Amino acid sequence: MPDKFLDLATLRFLLYDVHQLEAILSLPDFSEYDAESANMIIQSVVDFSQRELAPYYKEMDTDPARFENGTIRVHPAVSGYLKKCGELGLLAGPLDHDSGGMQLPFLLVTTYMYIQEISNNHMPGYAGLTFGASELLVHYASEEIKERFVPKMLTGEWGGTMCLTEPQAGSSLSDILAEAKTDGDSYLLSGQKIFISGGDYQGIENIVHLVLARIEGAPAGTKGISLFVVPKFISQPNGSLEFNDVNTIGDFQKLGQRGFCTAHLSFGDQGNCRGWLVGEPNQGLRYMFQMMNGARIATGRGAAAISMAAYQASLAYARERPQGRSLTEAGKKDASKGQTLIINHADVKRMLLRQKVIAEGGLSLILLSARYHDLSRSHQDEQKRNEYGLLLDILTPVAKTYPAEKGIDSVSAGLQVLGGYGFCEDYILQQYYRDIRIFSIYEGTTGIQSQDLLGRKMTMENGRAFALLSMEIEKTIKNAEDGDLSPMGEKLAEGLATAGKVKDYLMKFADAGEYDRFLADATLVMELMGVLVVGWQWLEMGLKSQDALAGNQKYEESFYRAKLHALDYYYLYEMPAISRHAETLLNNEGITTREANSLFP
Ligand SMILES: Cc1cc2nc3c(=O)[nH]c(=O)nc-3n(C[C@H](O)[C@H](O)[C@H](O)COP(=O)(O)OP(=O)(O)OC[C@H]3O[C@@H](n4cnc5c(N)ncnc54)[C@H](O)[C@@H]3O)c2cc1C
Repeated sequence: MPDKFLDLATLRFLLYDVHQLEAILSLPDFSEYDAESANMIIQSVVDFSQRELAPYYKEMDTDPARFENGTIRVHPAVSGYLKKCGELGLLAGPLDHDSGGMQLPFLLVTTYMYIQEISNNHMPGYAGLTFGASELLVHYASEEIKERFVPKMLTGEWGGTMCLTEPQAGSSLSDILAEAKTDGDSYLLSGQKIFISGGDYQGIENIVHLVLARIEGAPAGTKGISLFVVPKFISQPNGSLEFNDVNTIGDFQKLGQRGFCTAHLSFGDQGNCRGWLVGEPNQGLRYMFQMMNGARIATGRGAAAISMAAYQASLAYARERPQGRSLTEAGKKDASKGQTLIINHADVKRMLLRQKVIAEGGLSLILLSARYHDLSRSHQDEQKRNEYGLLLDILTPVAKTYPAEKGIDSVSAGLQVLGGYGFCEDYILQQYYRDIRIFSIYEGTTGIQSQDLLGRKMTMENGRAFALLSMEIEKTIKNAEDGDLSPMGEKLAEGLATAGKVKDYLMKFADAGEYDRFLADATLVMELMGVLVVGWQWLEMGLKSQDALAGNQKYEESFYRAKLHALDYYYLYEMPAISRHAETLLNNEGITTREANSLFP
């Protein structure tokens, strides 16, 4: 059962020792919680995931969501799951008390969603979207709209979605065509939305769609996009629900995450689909994007959970699978001698270490982003809030992308650890391999995230976010200065200087108005930055492990020693990618800006 793949000791180490959950809990916004209550929440979600999620993970893949008779049939556990999340308060975790929430730090919410995703990465998506949609309404909708929709979403009676994508408008949302015509105090909506996660399914009373559309006569491009709340059914005064002309055309059949439905919706086929404006006209994309930070961290979090579960599954297999003989043993050709376990082969250890550093490093990056999120909202000093907000801004595309992209590599290495069995349905690795593939596409592809990182975040406010991030990394370098980890500190400093050099080199193209050239290899900048910040996280983990070995050990000594070995591995095997990418990025060839016809005649 996948729950055994949760490494609770590493999660606690990251949460309490590396990311200082208790310091976050001491902020006035979270003063009603302490380590004891946080641990109770964590344990209750571990039990909940074991009971309600793990048993259905495989079934949701082998019996996927399917379009039948005008709606989508999903695993029967889905509707029960959402209500149970509501009962436990998990759909309202970070909302403040006035909005019906538990006022929990995002760091703890991130932790309890991650625990669920270790057990079953299909199901929590339904909860994540319902929460995301209700949070957006809480922030931007009128009191009347909030009262109509939010309470039923927080109890899990009604689901929620985000409807942005259209057939011609995926990465480029400026091309959205869905239309809204004024009709009294509401609007009549028309248009199609594709790839809508949780867009329609049986067993749920109602679904509340948040739809991006243009009001008739609105300006072209992103400046003319508004946000509407469009329920599948409208509640009538007598309590009954009336169909609101939101039609399901199909469910996309996918490579992975097959239990998390992906609907094709058509609004207003009968000219009778009613929506209500959220906030001001033409501000829809701004509202949506203000909520994107959370959604992007959530995407990275889901990928980190799959990487971790896959790592634990491969490790368990490698500890049990006998194959071949040790190269150093005398008489190695003697077939009468027993086989060794594959975990003793150097190449298998290398693959497992790769999985470990990506899974744990990616998780650390996610928790760091969640911590910055909390500090950017709840730190008592306004200037600090602003600085943490900038740190969150610059880290968010990396936190979304590193676990997703490197996670694919790490799960692939895990599948390789199982040899032929990795490719077969008898083992779970093939499902993780398929499931993780979507995370670099969700919430903006890697290409789009990379342009955001280089084109906006690294340069925003004259590079202030990048300067703040550099200062945070330099604190860790300083802490490593005089001890055994100083060589790692020096390598991290070199990597940081390389990142700065690459940024300054590419900025010259932006200053000269050559934006194509400036952003052409943004994805390589993303890779460089991902390896750098995860290297920073590993040095932090190493320093905390050393502190523990010198004093207060909460876990076995072997736990900390293994973290230090993983740190060694990371700096020898992963960090060289920084100079490798820099060599390409600092080259003036501009291969990818050449005419497509000349590259692919
Ligand atoms: C399973 C699934 C669930 C989804 N859930 C939702 C959801 O709930 N709600 C929702 O609204 N959407 C959802 N999406 C849509 C998702 O956000 C889009 O698929 C994604 O943003 C990419 O858009 P696209 O598929 O149209 O690809 P395109 O935009 O056509 O991109 C194709 C390729 O071109 C690249 N590219 C595009 N433009 C540029 C550019 N300017 N510069 C450089 N490269 C570029 C991309 O990086 C990509 O590699 C979902 C998608 C899937 C597959």
